[in-house]
Amino acid sequence: MKAHEPGVGRSSADVRTDPLTGATSLVVPRWDVAKAANPAAVPLEMPPGSTPCPFCPEQMADPSTRAGEETARAGGDGGTRAWSAMSLRNRWPNTTDPDAAEVVLLTDAHDRHLLDLPLDDAEVAVALLGERAEAQRWRGLHPLVFVNHGLNAGSSQPHPHGQVLGLQVRDPLAVREVPALAPGRCVLCAPVRDGALVAQLDGVAIAMPVAPTVDYEQVVVLDEHETWDPRAVARGIGVALRALWSVTGPVAYNLLFHLDGHVHVHVAPRAARHSGYELAGIGTCYVDPDEATERLARAARAETDATRSDAA
Ligand SMILES: [Zn+2]
Ligand SMILES: [Zn+2]
Ligand SMILES: [Zn+2]
Repeated sequence: MKAHEPGVGRSSADVRTDPLTGATSLVVPRWDVAKAANPAAVPLEMPPGSTPCPFCPEQMADPSTRAGEETARAGGDGGTRAWSAMSLRNRWPNTTDPDAAEVVLLTDAHDRHLLDLPLDDAEVAVALLGERAEAQRWRGLHPLVFVNHGLNAGSSQPHPHGQVLGLQVRDPLAVREVPALAPGRCVLCAPVRDGALVAQLDGVAIAMPVAPTVDYEQVVVLDEHETWDPRAVARGIGVALRALWSVTGPVAYNLLFHLDGHVHVHVAPRAARHSGYELAGIGTCYVDPDEATERLARAARAETDATRSDAA
């Protein structure tokens, strides 16, 4: 997805259908009276977790305390740092086949996550997610790859990790996206529409979906169809998350990786609890998506400008 410069279009309240996902969203009209309850962001509310953390390297090094059997490790320095990302068979599998539930520890550092990992480490983590997805594919299953961060996002362990599941069915969202990603008429190969670009980075763009399911949702899209570039994906996720947190404050989030056709990652903040809207399959936006894009784009620009002046 190559980007045009963001325009200054202003959308109004409406009902939208997303050309990629088929999602239906209500863009709620501006209220002339402020509503007291509806905080922009709630705290992460990370669960206390066990002490010591079962995903920290010291626990993972000891077979009696490790949280699952190791399937692959990546990164590390060959010395004191044994790994920077590791996958293991989930000790608490959520699939019928226990070998089809993998946890991928995204970093050896308990208190960092994809938002603040060095790009080299984030790349190793994203590459490992892709590698384990491929491993499930080789087993004849459909990989489902996601990251939950924070209690509101469904995470039960504070140590940053992703999950790779092998399922007998393809995830329904990916199935719905198939026609939109067909070669020759792929919506992610088309230029980002005016006013929807958060950032164009090296090899990857960050955009606002046509029909965001929640406020400040973003999609990270590789520039080229049918390519897999873990470094560009990691770069895009990092900028998207930092822009998000700089606008909303610390907020839980889900990342959903779609690796077929045109690689993209859905970045969905989890600031609000679910309601009847979601049960009905309808998203709701209380912040005008164009305005949300402008805020995120400003934050992303501030970062890229700062990086440039650091390098100078
Ligand atoms: Zn930990
Ligand atoms: Zn494409
Ligand atoms: Zn998708």
